[in-house]
Amino acid sequence: MSVAHGTIVDRYHELTRTSRRLAAEAREIFPSGVTHDARHLEPYGVYVTHARGSRKWDVDGNELVDYGGGHGSLLLGHSHPEITAAVHEQLDKGTHFGSNHELEIRWGRLVQQMVPCAERVRFTNSGTEATLLAMRLCRAYTGKAKIMRFVGHFHGWHDHAAFGVGNHFDGTPTPGVLPQIAENVVLAPPWDIEKTREMFTSRDDIAAVIVETTGSTWGQVPIKADLLHALREMTAERDVPLIFDEVISGFRCSPGGAQQAWGVTPDLTTLAKILAGGLPGGALVGRKDVLDLIDHYETAAAGREKVPHHGTYNANPLSAAAGIVMLEAIRTTDACERANDYARRLREELNRVLADEGVNWSVYGTFSGFHVFTNPHDEPITAADIDACRYDFHALKVPPRPGLIAKLRMGMILHGVDLFVWPGGVTSTAHTDADLTRTVDAFRQTLRLLKEEGEVA
Ligand code: PMP
Repeated sequence: MSVAHGTIVDRYHELTRTSRRLAAEAREIFPSGVTHDARHLEPYGVYVTHARGSRKWDVDGNELVDYGGGHGSLLLGHSHPEITAAVHEQLDKGTHFGSNHELEIRWGRLVQQMVPCAERVRFTNSGTEATLLAMRLCRAYTGKAKIMRFVGHFHGWHDHAAFGVGNHFDGTPTPGVLPQIAENVVLAPPWDIEKTREMFTSRDDIAAVIVETTGSTWGQVPIKADLLHALREMTAERDVPLIFDEVISGFRCSPGGAQQAWGVTPDLTTLAKILAGGLPGGALVGRKDVLDLIDHYETAAAGREKVPHHGTYNANPLSAAAGIVMLEAIRTTDACERANDYARRLREELNRVLADEGVNWSVYGTFSGFHVFTNPHDEPITAADIDACRYDFHALKVPPRPGLIAKLRMGMILHGVDLFVWPGGVTSTAHTDADLTRTVDAFRQTLRLLKEEGEVA
């Protein structure tokens, strides 16, 4: 990859000319030119033509080590040959039967066997739909109104989850969300277990507690496992369903997700991403008596009104075919450990670069994830401090210099590495030692460019 001299942005423009042209056209069609808020990069993101293993290639022929991993869905890397073959085979048989099919049983059975709380399984189209269904079922189950969520935790984009994540931390609604919906959400501080307990026990109107099992946004703001244990204990005492949102952590932290890794079994779990092998799909799984509320027979027998749930693409055969191969591989190999191990080595190596270069940032994270903390207030905070939850929530969650983050990401692309938006990413079994070396080198070169531009002291 030959890169001319100039500022990071100039060099980026030069290296990604075709992407720049496509981005200009996209602006005439899509708001901000993008199809997902997280794909927004100022001035524009690269356009990708194909991807294999740990790498992807953009329209200008640049080869990039990828840490987006299909928004976290590709634990085995891009275009895994067995997944691709299974989808091809299914494609020839039909993409949508609008009927039951055998693959959905095999897929659901694997989920049931792997996820500790999964007595019953209901497939959805996405993680957002899974958390929406979870909240509705819990309100129906308890007859109560309020959902307890945690400040900063992401559960998709539906109305009950849209505020208090990247902004509106006071619980007020984001534009378009009714105040009445926001009033029915209680936002607890994930960093304060005692305060959370007090908020929970002081009221009697909570229908469910939902939590991201590795902390806000895949651990951008980590939590202690103690929080999960405390939640389990306090919700069990009052029979309030506890929902683990394992849309990212499911099948990633371990074959049974974070609940298996931490040894805490919730009542319900929301899944997506890895579940469907890189194709669209999600699921709500958990206690039979809660999922019985969408069961025709059980509700009739109980004389209750059934909770409605639909979804054109639920258990789509292509997603089922991909999901089965993915879950079988995770169940029968050390895939999770390998991805975890690569991430651990990557975090260590990147922190070594920071120390070598005298830059007061840190790279932290758990399992197969990593986050780059750009330390906006130049505080004496280390990765160990962040992992131990001694941090300033806002500094981790809302870096005040988005321009710096954009330059960091562009600098990495200049050197053949694509970070995910946080900035940071997820790792896969496809990442190799060569990827690690390239990433470490890219980080070092990017830091030097940022210093040259006066962005980093
Ligand atoms: N919950 C969590 C923890 C997530 O990370 C995401 C997606 N990043 C969602 C829910 C929403 O999933 P989807 O994008 O499939 O709607």
